[in-house]
Amino acid sequence: MNDCIFCGIARGVIESGKVYSGGDVFAFNDINPQAPVHIVVIPSQHIAKLEDAKDPAVFSQIFKAIDIIVKEKGLDKNGYRVVVNSGRDAGQAVPHLHFHILGGRTLNWPPG
Ligand code: AMP
Ligand code: ZN
Repeated sequence: MNDCIFCGIARGVIESGKVYSGGDVFAFNDINPQAPVHIVVIPSQHIAKLEDAKDPAVFSQIFKAIDIIVKEKGLDKNGYRVVVNSGRDAGQAVPHLHFHILGGRTLNWPPG
């Protein structure tokens, strides 16, 4: 999608703090971090929201990337959170499916 910011990041035409790329997955540091570690993991292909992801291979690749990233960042020691905001009520701001990895501090529950 031409006007999608995360498509631009995955293609490298919009700058980001790249953390990981492999297969059809790209990950980068969130520009407005909500925790000491806040990484956004996306499918490189445009998928607008969670329920639009029909191919199980998308999730398999995303969670493989998440596993690699949390170990690389040492988050597996004390824990971390993976969050998907899907749709308006969840406050999804960017309409390209993304998984937040949050860690490096104690995280409150429930979220707001
Ligand atoms: P959500 O509210 O779940 O849609 O989250 C979108 C996330 O993308 C927010 O945490 C933003 O801070 C982050 N974000 C938006 N634009 C950029 C960007 N250009 N580079 C890195 N992160 C971004
Ligand atoms: Zn996109």
